[in-house]
Amino acid sequence: MPASTGRRGRPSRPSRPSRGRASPRSAAPVTPPPPAETQTEALARPNVTVPRAITVQQLGNLLGTSGVEVIKHLMRHGVIASINRVVNYDAAAAVATDLGFEPEPEPKAAKEAVAESAEAAPALAKAAPGQVLRPPVVTIMGHVDHGKTSLLDAIRQSKVTDTEAGGITQHIGAYQVEVKGQKITFLDTPGHEAFTAMRARGAQATDIAILVVAADDGVMPQTIEAIDHARAAGVPIIVAMNKIDKPTANPDKIKQQLGEHGLVLEEWGGDVILVPVSAKKKQGIQELLENLLVVAELADLKSDPNHHAEGIVIEAELDSSKGPIATVLVKNGTLKLSDRIVVGESWGKVKAMFNDKGQRLKSAGPSTPVEVMGLPTVPAVGERFLATADDKEARSLVDKRRKEALSGHAVAGRAFSLDELSSQIRAGQVKELGIILKTDVQGSIEPIKDSLERLKTEEAAVRVIHSGSGNVSETDVNLAVASRAIIIGFNTRPDPGARKLAEAEGVDIRVYTIIYDLIEDVRKALAGLLEPKLVDVVDGHAEIRQVFSMGKRGKIAGVSVNDGALRRGGLARVLRGGAPVAESSVTSLKHFKEDVKEMRAGFECGLGMDKFNDFQVGDIVEAFHREKRSAGSTA
Ligand code: GDP
Repeated sequence: MPASTGRRGRPSRPSRPSRGRASPRSAAPVTPPPPAETQTEALARPNVTVPRAITVQQLGNLLGTSGVEVIKHLMRHGVIASINRVVNYDAAAAVATDLGFEPEPEPKAAKEAVAESAEAAPALAKAAPGQVLRPPVVTIMGHVDHGKTSLLDAIRQSKVTDTEAGGITQHIGAYQVEVKGQKITFLDTPGHEAFTAMRARGAQATDIAILVVAADDGVMPQTIEAIDHARAAGVPIIVAMNKIDKPTANPDKIKQQLGEHGLVLEEWGGDVILVPVSAKKKQGIQELLENLLVVAELADLKSDPNHHAEGIVIEAELDSSKGPIATVLVKNGTLKLSDRIVVGESWGKVKAMFNDKGQRLKSAGPSTPVEVMGLPTVPAVGERFLATADDKEARSLVDKRRKEALSGHAVAGRAFSLDELSSQIRAGQVKELGIILKTDVQGSIEPIKDSLERLKTEEAAVRVIHSGSGNVSETDVNLAVASRAIIIGFNTRPDPGARKLAEAEGVDIRVYTIIYDLIEDVRKALAGLLEPKLVDVVDGHAEIRQVFSMGKRGKIAGVSVNDGALRRGGLARVLRGGAPVAESSVTSLKHFKEDVKEMRAGFECGLGMDKFNDFQVGDIVEAFHREKRSAGSTA
């Protein structure tokens, strides 16, 4: 968010003892010191003319501060408003007073004033028709042992009322708390790994990431990963600087390190809010929650509660007595009892719903996590669901999905390789090459990253989404899938799990030992010059049992298909004693007297090949097709 654009000839700002924004580090302090000629007046509160309706951002501009700061002050006065919302005079004047001004209303004609006062409800929410603000969904991220779990617990406990304490325990993977009448949903699986694994499945549950950094430790490798993963997802970050109760806490060091990793804190004129907390002593929790609402307001999260529900599976299990149970997060619309719910390629009817406190619900609105009973199978975590009004709609949606899955449409175009990218850049379809860079040692990262980012052409640029040292992990692969990026390893290899996942998802992992080769391949890819290599992919095998002569039309082999399938028109080679003796295409395929397109394992058929007659009993016919594959790819 841009800093204030200045006061445009408004009264100069008094020096204000309250929450200071000006920082010695800030290159562009949001609050400039008053000009010399007005300093003598600084003790008197300068007047400011405030319109009767003004947006939060405009008010920030008027008062020489940021929209975030205005939102915070509004909240202190009980008004929740996002950056583009209009607030009335009373709310705006209260903020102006807080900031040391003497507000006065803009004069208006009497008639208009009457009309306006009827209109100017607090924080006039003018969302698109049907769209209302929904609670933010929050994930806690950060380095191991920095206090993610403790913070989740502290937040949960801070909101448990006396009547609930001991009586009700949360039993699903998310919970909701209420702060100043606003709800916030917390996902109970902390860490960026789960967050990105979900994104790799195409589901983004999280709206805001809380980055926990231990004040006695600092920015660590997983802190950096969390920052990169949240950024790649476009999810705003709020920093919880934890363990401030510890005598060894060093807040200044933490702030500086965060700055080095591109998080420009609010106190330096940026838009990243940092809240000091102690999960152990339960300090700063309320402030953290209030600031989360500020970030949520800025993010302007909307949903239409009247829509059929859609959302994401966040947990699923098979209960021995209740059958498949899934915890889902409603992202849009309202999920109701008896709704048909389609997940993946199956559908069921919502038989019962329970909230995080185990209470039965009849309906669940936007951002509500609920446990759902009634699905026929256990869905995968991260899968999206859609509710429909009746069986017919649910059935046709499932049919459509099955067909798509069979034709391979559902997964097509998810991940891609460096040479595919190269041809897409050549075709002008792609402007940015996303790279995840892993190296053996920390010291190699910066030089390689610099060289890569300098390889800009007019057509495309490189963006290193994440870099780090160590093996290529499953989390890296998930990030690559979620961001349509490729992975480059320098003197490092993929973990076995990462290799398997990359194969399944079609992610290109390239490993280099020579920097020149690495840079050169990426340079060629950017210039659209990297040509994909064609590789043979075997489709099936058949054994020749008999050979028939067809006179002038040559010979036909009677074969039995052992595995896979043979296709008419497809490529095939004849293997004798394991060695190829011929390669051409299948010209005829007959099952009894019928011409067939394809013959699968377990069947016998007659087969003719283009320009080849020298079949012998015992030969193997290997059917194959050619695919474009990356050269140098290891995964
Ligand atoms: P996680 O791995 O990020 O989930 O971290 P945990 O929540 O498990 O906390 C790691 C350790 O730090 C535990 O021993 C906690 O008791 C401790 N811890 C967490 N928060 C605080 C805090 O605010 N102050 C202090 N002194 N210790 C804390």
